[in-house]
Amino acid sequence: MTMRSVCHETGLFLSHQAVFCVFRRPVIIDFDRVLCYISTSNVHMQRDMHTDSSRQDERFMREALREAGKARQQQEVPIGAVLVKDGEILARGYNSSITLHDPSAHAEIMVLRQAGQQVGNYRLTDTELYVTLEPCIMCMGALIQARIARLVFGAYDPRTGAAGSVFDFAGSDTLNHRFDVRGGVLEKECGFLLQDFFEQKRTMRRDGRVG
Ligand SMILES: [Zn+2]
Repeated sequence: MTMRSVCHETGLFLSHQAVFCVFRRPVIIDFDRVLCYISTSNVHMQRDMHTDSSRQDERFMREALREAGKARQQQEVPIGAVLVKDGEILARGYNSSITLHDPSAHAEIMVLRQAGQQVGNYRLTDTELYVTLEPCIMCMGALIQARIARLVFGAYDPRTGAAGSVFDFAGSDTLNHRFDVRGGVLEKECGFLLQDFFEQKRTMRRDGRVG
């Protein structure tokens, strides 16, 4: 049973309190406190969920970094990616444009192709793509076509990034598919790999070695 009561001290209605009859004795429940307790619990829950999701993002980004390392071994620009579904890696890939003589062989495209073959569908719904560098226009277009659910990238690309840096294809109102984006996961590690690669190239060129 709930009812409104008047505070004898202030004369105001106790709108956030209710009087319950428990064992024939009135018990006043202060909803402000209850709501405060509930919202505090929610904050803790959300924080825990956030921590879990951050840990998971870092775990999969390390896998993408591992792929980037394979690209580097082949003298390709070190960018790697993995596609995840239900917490499992569905496909892996890395930049292979030079090796395959293919301008479209970016890490993201390699992963989407492999995953498509694996599931027998070009729609890769409910998947998350992890890539060490913010995707370019071409890759963002392919991710939209594949209907992925989420994109997580490592380093930002202020020159050609199409997930928010230069263009924002993931949040465009005019495109027929939108997805969540999180950037900057293991940003330093992902950025360092690229920086180190290009520095080595410059040194090789300066020394007259082919690079
Ligand atoms: Zn790309």
